[in-house]
Amino acid sequence: MSSIFTKIINREIPAVIVYEDDLCISFRDIDPKAPQHILLVPKKEIKSLAEATENDAPLLGHLLIKAGEIARDQGFSDSGYRVVINTNKEGGQAVYHIHLHILGGRQMEWPPG
Ligand code: AMP
Repeated sequence: MSSIFTKIINREIPAVIVYEDDLCISFRDIDPKAPQHILLVPKKEIKSLAEATENDAPLLGHLLIKAGEIARDQGFSDSGYRVVINTNKEGGQAVYHIHLHILGGRQMEWPPG
């Protein structure tokens, strides 16, 4: 069964898309936890970081570079931001299609909740 993010990739459900290329799509989180909350999702359905393999290294590298570009393009790179990959239950993962959260627009705290 395809994930809710694959439905966004396939334009079966709407999203506010901020970036897309052959490998990934990026769109605004429907329930933002910061003034800027953007998700970046590979088109390949990897369930979680726990299931990624060495073969996925180029794709995961691509995502990190794109996360930086998206933060710059959206204007919150200089002020700062956080990139998060929630993984499995105790990591707080709800959607089992690996994704990066790009969070910005306010002071982040440490340690995270
Ligand atoms: P995670 O808890 O790391 O799996 O994060 C899943 C994220 O997906 C949450 O922040 C949700 O608000 C977000 N989300 C779920 N459904 C949608 C949707 N249809 N469009 C945009 N964001 C979504």
